[in-house]
Amino acid sequence: ERLVSGDSTYEEQEIEFSLRPQNLTQYIGQDKVKHNLQIFIEAAKLRHEALDHVLLYGPPGLGKTTLAAIIANEMGVNLRTTSGPAIERPGDLAAVLTALEPGDVLFIDEIHRLHRSVEEVLYSAMEDFCLDIVIGKGPTAKSVRVDLPPFTLVGATTRAGMLSAPLRDRFGVLCRLEYYEEYDLANIVERTADVFTIGIEQEATIEIARRSRGTPRIANRLLRRVRDFAQVRGDGTITNEITRTALELLQVDKRGLDHIDHKLLRGIIERFRGGPVGLETIAASIGEEAHTIEDVYEPYLLQIGFLQRTPRGRVVTHLVYEHFQIEVPEK
Ligand code: ADP
Repeated sequence: ERLVSGDSTYEEQEIEFSLRPQNLTQYIGQDKVKHNLQIFIEAAKLRHEALDHVLLYGPPGLGKTTLAAIIANEMGVNLRTTSGPAIERPGDLAAVLTALEPGDVLFIDEIHRLHRSVEEVLYSAMEDFCLDIVIGKGPTAKSVRVDLPPFTLVGATTRAGMLSAPLRDRFGVLCRLEYYEEYDLANIVERTADVFTIGIEQEATIEIARRSRGTPRIANRLLRRVRDFAQVRGDGTITNEITRTALELLQVDKRGLDHIDHKLLRGIIERFRGGPVGLETIAASIGEEAHTIEDVYEPYLLQIGFLQRTPRGRVVTHLVYEHFQIEVPEK
């Protein structure tokens, strides 16, 4: 398991649940998204209507699930949670939709992974709050229209580009979540330490924030690991010194890069003089799948400007040479 992965492990889901902020005020950062949602929520409440359908997109661990729960909370309605791959047949979707109460929020995580047949049923549900269900087979089959209560679909995806156009067009509100600023992450770490009732030096919150790859999930995970060190090696208080030692031992460097990032970046430097080099070639040379590199390893490296995509392939930037304290090779 990668310590700096944006995905959650099965074991941490329960603890994450307990850490979720409950309302927009407690939700740190993402000011633009928060501001927009605040207005849409208030307007919907004034009109006594269900909130328009919301699509949340952005890398894993940035707070999409949390935001879906907050939307339901702020609207004062129930939240139903499911995911794209979990809804196998149109009938499964019908069962979920017909059980909703007026105004409820239905959260579908990984919505880009919905089966096509299910997606098509969802269109009329989103647009007209009704379902057309075919009963029976062959010549005696007939179509029945079922009315649904007005509801809000909140969809989450890591890649908006993978959503079909007809589905994307049915969302009235599109929210793109950004990687978090260091300052916001430090606040999240402080809040989490508060929930755990552990003392933490302010410098330590910043040190953890800096190594969390712009991602709250990673920040909270690193905090939990550093807390173990503080309890075993110190008096329980998370000092800056313990934080640095712990993260050094856990091999999370000053920018939040781990051994996999190092292998990728050093591979491009040592075998391809820093690039440009094609994705497939990199993949073969370090023994990883091209799509894993593209979907999992690259986004953060691109975000922090360590890696660039050019028409001729990937290139590491001067920031990487500075980071590793090595000289830029002559071309
Ligand atoms: P996603 O659904 O995008 O993968 P989650 O909503 O599950 O991410 O968030 C992961 C964890 O990070 C949660 O436990 C939550 O407590 C924390 N978190 C995410 N965003 C925020 C935020 N803006 N403020 C405070 N904590 C957050």
